[in-house]
Amino acid sequence: PKYVYEFAEGSKDLKELLGGKGANLAEMTNLGLPVPPGFTITTEACRYFLANDAMPDGLDAEIGAKLSALERAMGKRLGQPDDPLLVSVRSGAKFSMPGMMETVLNIGLNDESVRGLAAQSGDERFAWDSYRRLIQMFGKTVQGIGGELFDDAFEEVKRQKGVVGDLDLDAADHRKLVDVFKGIVAEHTGREFPADPREQMDLAVRAVFGSWNAPRAVLYRRQERIPVDLGTAVNVCAMVFGNLGMDSGTGVAFTRDPASGRQGVYGDYLQNAQGEDVVAGIRNTVPLADLERVDSRCYAELLSIMETLENHYRDLCDIEFTIERGKLWMLQTRVGKRTAAAAFRIADQLIDQGMITLDEAVSRVTGDQLAQLMFPRFADDVEGHLLGTGMNASPGAAVGKAVFDSYTAIKWARSGEDVILCRRETNPDDLEGMLSASGILTSRGGKTSHAAVVARGMGKTCVCGAEELGIDTKNRRLTAPGGEVVEEGDVISIDGTSGRVYLGAVPVVSSPVVRYFEGEIDPASDEADDLVRAVDRIMHYADAARRLRVRANADNAEDAARARRMGAEGVGLCRTEHMFLGDRRQLVERLILADTEAEQQEALDRLLPLQRDDFAEAFEAMDGLPVTVRLLDPPLHEFLPDITELSVRVAVAESRGESHENDLRLLQAVHKLHEQNPMLGLRGVRLGLVVPGLFTMQVRAIARAAAQLLAEGRRPRPEIMIPLVGTVQELEIIRDESNRVLREVGEEYGVELDFPVGTMIELPRAALTAGQIAESAEFFSFGTNDLTQTVWGFSRDDVEASFFSAYLEKGVFGVSPFESLDVEGVGRLIEIATAEGRAARPGIKLGICGEHGGDPDSVHFFHRAGLDYVSCSPFRVPVARLEAGRAAA
Ligand code: ADP
Ligand code: MG
Ligand code: MG
Repeated sequence: PKYVYEFAEGSKDLKELLGGKGANLAEMTNLGLPVPPGFTITTEACRYFLANDAMPDGLDAEIGAKLSALERAMGKRLGQPDDPLLVSVRSGAKFSMPGMMETVLNIGLNDESVRGLAAQSGDERFAWDSYRRLIQMFGKTVQGIGGELFDDAFEEVKRQKGVVGDLDLDAADHRKLVDVFKGIVAEHTGREFPADPREQMDLAVRAVFGSWNAPRAVLYRRQERIPVDLGTAVNVCAMVFGNLGMDSGTGVAFTRDPASGRQGVYGDYLQNAQGEDVVAGIRNTVPLADLERVDSRCYAELLSIMETLENHYRDLCDIEFTIERGKLWMLQTRVGKRTAAAAFRIADQLIDQGMITLDEAVSRVTGDQLAQLMFPRFADDVEGHLLGTGMNASPGAAVGKAVFDSYTAIKWARSGEDVILCRRETNPDDLEGMLSASGILTSRGGKTSHAAVVARGMGKTCVCGAEELGIDTKNRRLTAPGGEVVEEGDVISIDGTSGRVYLGAVPVVSSPVVRYFEGEIDPASDEADDLVRAVDRIMHYADAARRLRVRANADNAEDAARARRMGAEGVGLCRTEHMFLGDRRQLVERLILADTEAEQQEALDRLLPLQRDDFAEAFEAMDGLPVTVRLLDPPLHEFLPDITELSVRVAVAESRGESHENDLRLLQAVHKLHEQNPMLGLRGVRLGLVVPGLFTMQVRAIARAAAQLLAEGRRPRPEIMIPLVGTVQELEIIRDESNRVLREVGEEYGVELDFPVGTMIELPRAALTAGQIAESAEFFSFGTNDLTQTVWGFSRDDVEASFFSAYLEKGVFGVSPFESLDVEGVGRLIEIATAEGRAARPGIKLGICGEHGGDPDSVHFFHRAGLDYVSCSPFRVPVARLEAGRAAA
């Protein structure tokens, strides 16, 4: 295969092979934009290298040929002593992984060529600065030497000279640093810094390939669910120099604001700087608009290129560029990451501008983004104690205890604390700490700094560049300009939408998007902003496109009513267990302790009207829409007192010689009902079969509630659902009883009560015998929580805390099967049950209830599997609606 592509040979559609960066460099080259020439080594070469720990045959010669072509085009050789061609070696995988993979600039410099570069440029400082950077980057990324060794030496030279800025160092200082850095390299690798330019390049290429498996990259991929075996491409690109004086510089730009989505000029620029200086937030940048004053010609050209790119990609693009002595160069572009709000606003704007269709618009937003917009935010009218303001890097409201290092963030978060990670600036080593934190606060770096980019990707609230807040990580405190000191553990609140940082916990309010879904904001009114209007437009389209219906899991009238406002088309799971708790617990105890049938019946008779009223409220809230009621599911002992507490009570009473008749009986019963493995014990339909009258009482309550409502002219539509069925025989018994009760109550009230009786499919056996079960079931609802437990043999409550993190770390799975449906295993059973159920009973209604009903990827699977509806928690209803629409669009 061909392993190396010149930029002009690629295109944006070759991301798999050339990586995102390489494919887009090719695209820009072919658009005629000013891209320094270069070539891309494919991801295929990387995969070969990772599998064989060796470069593929012929790669070396191919690189040699492309390098020669590059040298001819540039009129100089790599590292040519009197006039060196320098190159960057840049990683670039299919998915952008900010800061994860490594880039080395200024390859080709050595003790000789540095003098050539100085002579050619007429700038000694520049040449030695570039050489110094090469050794630093090469040492750190290729040779794996701790970056702080170089940083410390750098700071030391500045300190000795009594200066603070990087630009205050002259040629001699950089030269001195080159010596010091070479010493560090020699000491840590046992050999001299490699002077041969081609060797530098080859080592860098290998290092980029190898960095695919760096722990940070592995963690990021897992978090972002990026496949582990894609590999990265390597781009070799002729250097252009932003560090050639004040008429040079480097910057980052966005064609729209990645935070709000609004149009305008967004970006950061830094004069006399190279590469990472902007992104790392090491020096403070100026807003891109200021470039107009510095270099109006380049500014105008940049704006025009931004327009070209946006029209070409028909989306928000982000851009990296460098100006070398008044000449603009494009170094990177890609369809840019954006916040959730920006995603909706941009999709909406692009429809208006005629750039995309509504179909494309729904593909540009995700359910996860919609979920983010539903997060609460700080109350506008509450005046918090303002400590200071930074940049609004990633929206949302976060309240938590201030911590100043990632380790503490992780540790405290594990013990259940909300924390705000406060750092001067973040780097890839902070990734896990950032994941653990509720919010991130930095004192340096702009909206394109590491903290900002990564936080936006994670959907985490972030305020960056809050310079006025002196963050002192050594002493674990921050100092506000007003003199307030926040120590580790003090609570602060950060507002990622405004950039404000407050002392203490600021009250949080619900988002306008939720208020819109709740019907409190009319999208046509003035109260609705452009975001609400964008959400409304896209939701209408998704609703029209989707085939899946969306119901909610709601156990009471209040949740059902809220779910309905959020667009639920019924209740897919109304659990009845809470109807046995609280004051009613005593009745349940009596039911279990009853010695005679009469006693038992008395307890049931007292529970009946209570249940009936609960059901009536829920049916009323969903009037005209189906409500699937699940008969009692959990093991009975869950309703009984704790065995240890009760034993102690009995023992104490005994020792005091007090009467404890009742407690003793209770304890005996609790002992009798105690199970080693309640999840696999007496529960669900088994309970209905062995506790006489229990399920009939529930069905009677449902029937009476419905009959009453019918008499009032309402349209109750209950569906009776039997949990944990493993065989059709279990179902038949309960179904016959249920139908008998429905008839009885119907006669009592003089109405016809013809409500469907169906079952949950949550045991593998049920799925595998779905054809038989469907003969007796009028509907199936896949209980994917229990089905996942029983298919994997995991007890969810036990395993998530104990070994899931190890499994995720070892890559056994990329995401918990309780979070996102295990399509291959659990999904396969759903497919079998769907096919066999439909074959046995054409038109059988199929739904799913379980956390997966609100998970975007799972919703797409349920759509493909051909289910009729998903049911999820009320707040996830809009997410499921959107994803169902996206799946169908
Ligand atoms: P990342 O994936 O981290 O963005 P890049 O490969 O884009 O890494 O490199 C980081 C920065 O290095 C770029 O934004 C650019 O400023 C600088 N850079 C890379 N290649 C060159 C080059 N050929 N000439 C000048 N600067 C470069
Ligand atoms: Mg880049
Ligand atoms: Mg279940």
